[in-house]
Amino acid sequence: MTKTPYYKSIGKEEDVFTHAYNNKLPLLLKGPTGTGKTRFVDYMAHQLNSTLITVSCNEETSSTDLIGRYLIKGAETLWIDGPLTTAVKTGAILYLDEIAEARPDVIVAIHALTDHRKELYIDKLGQTIKAHPDFMLVASFNPGYQKGFKELKPSTRQRFVALSFVYPNLKDEVDILVNETQIDTATAKKLVTIAHKIRNLTELGLTETVSTRLLVDAAKLIGTGLPKRLAVKVGIVEPLTDDEDIITALTDLCDLMI
Ligand code: ADP
Repeated sequence: MTKTPYYKSIGKEEDVFTHAYNNKLPLLLKGPTGTGKTRFVDYMAHQLNSTLITVSCNEETSSTDLIGRYLIKGAETLWIDGPLTTAVKTGAILYLDEIAEARPDVIVAIHALTDHRKELYIDKLGQTIKAHPDFMLVASFNPGYQKGFKELKPSTRQRFVALSFVYPNLKDEVDILVNETQIDTATAKKLVTIAHKIRNLTELGLTETVSTRLLVDAAKLIGTGLPKRLAVKVGIVEPLTDDEDIITALTDLCDLMI
């Protein structure tokens, strides 16, 4: 097994995950992008000695992609299990990243796995398979980003235990930057202070604000020697918006703070 990834706990999420796992309850991780959801699932899979299978959902992701399909190989037709079927059979953790992006038939496919039945119906084979006792379903969802666009239906949400991910506090976020990159604590503190400042500037109307991921990226650039102001501009400011006025205002602000 590979090395356990670094993950800094920011609340009771490890306990919640472990209890959900032990009770075989599906878990929904809610929160903005770059707040550590994917890293957390990876970390927990290691902690629980489980195999993790991740599917990054997009608008094309269908139940066939998850369940499986027939492939024609020469004169033969072969059935290939999809990631969901593999996880259900082998007792892995299946992580559906950005579940609301997927096609509606994906939600239908997981229904019977998210209630007491704990089974998967493979329509193309006419088979129903019982989930392995160690199987767990985890999904992530970004409520802010999907507002009014791709919501998760209440009837779907209520099938999950749900955990909210928020940005870490100052000290925890500095720890994350120092652990993830080669950066010194003083510079990490400056980056995190910049992030906190921008996150509070709600009047800018940014769709997404500075995530821990952006900070890690900027810190990496600084760590390998890119000048700090340039690293902050390309690592933090530019990815946030295309509005020239906002870019100028944020760049000026960051230049003063780094
Ligand atoms: P999400 O899945 O929420 O979009 P990720 O898990 O991909 O976010 O996190 C993005 C990056 O931010 C990670 O690769 C990691 O470097 C860093 N990160 C964020 N939160 C944490 C945390 N609590 N512990 C360790 N690293 C973190």
